[in-house]
Amino acid sequence: MDSKKLEHYRSILQEQLRQHTENVRDEQATAIEDTEDGVMDSLDMSLMDVNKELAFRLGERESQMVADIDQALLRMDEGTYGECVRCGKKIDERRLDALPTARYDAACQTAIEEESGAEDAPTL
Ligand SMILES: [Zn+2]
Repeated sequence: MDSKKLEHYRSILQEQLRQHTENVRDEQATAIEDTEDGVMDSLDMSLMDVNKELAFRLGERESQMVADIDQALLRMDEGTYGECVRCGKKIDERRLDALPTARYDAACQTAIEEESGAEDAPTL
């Protein structure tokens, strides 16, 4: 992949990273503020724990996306971005346009989804 295209995807990924990082922070802050108003009280400690758990679960999906973006940026630094991590073939650019964090080419993605079963198939 030429450097111009790489920079194009890098800027998309960095923008996504910024947005998802904000989402994680907002969701966690909202879940905690909803019942606590940000004030800790020993009587409410158990409630606080519940809220932390809730915040964690709300943020989990976003956190996973942040991790995916981080990994894509890491592959860029390593010079392997745009290559399937499973078979090493180039990932179609239309696929990268739709999903800049794509780790696999379409063939491997399909194979992995079939192996892992429909229930927890990786989302696009
Ligand atoms: Zn592949």
